Amino acid sequence: MAAIEMRNIVKEYGDGFKAVNDVSLHVADGEFMILVGPSGCGKSTLLRMIVGLEDITSGDMVIGGDRVNDKAPRDRNLSMVFQNYALYPHLTVFENIAFPLRLMKGVGEDEIRRRVTEAASMLELTEHLDRKPANLSGGQRQRVAMGRAIVRNVNAFLFDEPLSNLDAKLRGQMRTEISRMQRRLGTTTVYVTHDQTEAMTLGDRVAVLRRGLLQQVASPRELYEQP
Ligand code: ADP
Ligand code: ADP
Repeated sequence: MAAIEMRNIVKEYGDGFKAVNDVSLHVADGEFMILVGPSGCGKSTLLRMIVGLEDITSGDMVIGGDRVNDKAPRDRNLSMVFQNYALYPHLTVFENIAFPLRLMKGVGEDEIRRRVTEAASMLELTEHLDRKPANLSGGQRQRVAMGRAIVRNVNAFLFDEPLSNLDAKLRGQMRTEISRMQRRLGTTTVYVTHDQTEAMTLGDRVAVLRRGLLQQVASPRELYEQP
């Protein structure tokens, strides 16, 4: 768990176009921050700079007190959940969730079993641990993707529209689960969405981007009550 401090972050593409233009935003330790704004406003670009999938043109990205601009994604100790939850089709649910732990040095088999069991229990996947992704519903697959994100102790979770491929009923259920999970683990979270209900119900605060500029940061209530 760690605060994320973005200081004057700029992302300029080859033609001089600034997809992210001087954004300064502090996400407190344990805070659930929502990023909203029209398509093309820079949400994904900003998220990708936090994770390290996109180079930062200028500014400082500080996670848990460390400047991470030049750190590779795997050295930032973050978990990202994408809209297209890429599970390994040939692996069971257990092995899909265990995957990040198997990439870490020095995590023994007992520890892996303990952590996967705990994550599965939190996400109500215990009965499905031996199944393959093809035999799961869309909501269950999304839970496995989340299991993989929470199985390590990470500095923060980053979500890029994780629920947009699900139907309305499942979206509602997953919203509740994400909220419960984040509060239980208390992990700093940045969550990109188009969905107003998600923004209003999940976030401690909502950051509004427009054309690469940070326009406003407010609580859901403040945003909702403004004229
Ligand atoms: P959002 O996630 O809010 O929809 P993006 O972060 O994907 O927005 O994109 C922000 C802006 O940057 C858009 O105008 C997009 O066309 C532009 N953009 C994204 N990637 C590139 C790139 N590789 N080269 C040039 N422009 C890009
Ligand atoms: P999303 O809207 O889901 O964020 P996009 O479809 O905008 O994704 O972008 C998909 C990919 O294309 C990304 O890797 C992005 O960096 C790249 N891209 C987006 N806009 C441009 C652009 N104007 N020029 C070059 N690459 C772009």
